[in-house]
Amino acid sequence: MPLVNLKPVLREAKAKGYAVAAFNPVDYASMKAMVKAAEELQAPVIIQTSAKTINYYGHAALIGWMREIAGDSPVPVVLHLDHGKDLDMIRKCVDLGWTSVMIDWSDKPFDINLATSRQIVEMAAAANVGVEAEIGQILGVEDDMVVHEDESHLTDPSEAEKFCRELDLAAFAAAIGTAHGYYKGEPKVAFDLIGEINRRTNTPMALHGGTGLSDEIIQKCIKLGCAKINISTNLKHVFIDSFIDYHQKNKKYEPLHVLGAQYEALKQLFKEKIAQFGGTNRGSELKSKVA
Ligand SMILES: [Zn+2]
Repeated sequence: MPLVNLKPVLREAKAKGYAVAAFNPVDYASMKAMVKAAEELQAPVIIQTSAKTINYYGHAALIGWMREIAGDSPVPVVLHLDHGKDLDMIRKCVDLGWTSVMIDWSDKPFDINLATSRQIVEMAAAANVGVEAEIGQILGVEDDMVVHEDESHLTDPSEAEKFCRELDLAAFAAAIGTAHGYYKGEPKVAFDLIGEINRRTNTPMALHGGTGLSDEIIQKCIKLGCAKINISTNLKHVFIDSFIDYHQKNKKYEPLHVLGAQYEALKQLFKEKIAQFGGTNRGSELKSKVA
């Protein structure tokens, strides 16, 4: 089926009590491994391109690859823009076929963030594209932008309520104690805050910084209303380690063999995450609702 809008996918996941895995691809083969992993488990999946990846390959190459890989996939696949800060880049994603975009103006004052996010929601809705928006800044490094502990503040639930009441969002991202990158020590996830935000916004929450969270934390977050879980750092490590490991063991200069081993290692990671978040066998049921 063609790429699908994020909104109905997450509404359904939240209603059924599971989360859809969202992975940041780094090349054609990692995208293909994501879709294949989802197909093998009959699950929905979100492929989310970062601004850095778009700047590297260009919009046209990425949408071309996605249409080739997922255009006739039997499972629902969303193509999403992660942490969109540049409005021209966001508009181009909407125009060229992304089915979801994130507007992240969380480093701006609340009213400016709200007004800009509203513009994006209106533009995206006209093209049947879902929108994720954020308030409160999430800790860590995303696309070379660093948010230090002293700059990161947890999301205010009354601001979250106002933000989500005024915007028809597919997903809401909040600073709730998780961080981009690997955790040093035990992450301090604010479960009460997640629960309160979900009660007050009734909008599926996107959990950023999914790499390195224990299964217990993940399951608790899903129960509290997180319907999209982002995995990026994990993938970067498997991408590089699998390549090096294969070469060190085999010492042959056969690029396609190395790439094949890397592809299998990535697919395995994606399947583990999709299954852990409860996505297995949700694809066909969901397909009828998003088509
Ligand atoms: Zn993020």
